[in-house]
Amino acid sequence: MDEECIFCKIGGGEIPADILYHDDHCFVIRDISPKAPSHLLIIPNDHVTYLTETTETLAPVLGGMFSAVREMAQREGVADDGYRLVINQGRDSGQQVPHLHMHLLGGRPLGEMG
Ligand code: 5GP
Ligand code: ZN
Repeated sequence: MDEECIFCKIGGGEIPADILYHDDHCFVIRDISPKAPSHLLIIPNDHVTYLTETTETLAPVLGGMFSAVREMAQREGVADDGYRLVINQGRDSGQQVPHLHMHLLGGRPLGEMG
């Protein structure tokens, strides 16, 4: 737990949030500034900033995050029409929150990446 980290605070219940999904690996919330009708954040329970910090313990967490995606895409009704997953990493990506997370975007045609 990083005491200054907003996602650690949300995951730890210090900041109230509508947690849509929670398991041993990760939790899911809606993005506060949605870029699509469905814009969810899949967030590991434990504080990790970068995928390069990959350790043996991160591998099952990443697997768990994709299970959460599958579940939430169904629940959001975007599984059939499709969705986009994004992980921003570091300065060039514009990563704002230094706690690893995956964006799930869907609910409209998302256009080309760019
Ligand atoms: P990044 O740019 O780091 O990949 O994405 C961080 C995302 O977190 C942004 O899309 C931003 O809108 C979202 N975000 C930042 N602070 C909060 C918050 O306090 N609550 C929620 N639900 N989303 C947040
Ligand atoms: Zn954190």
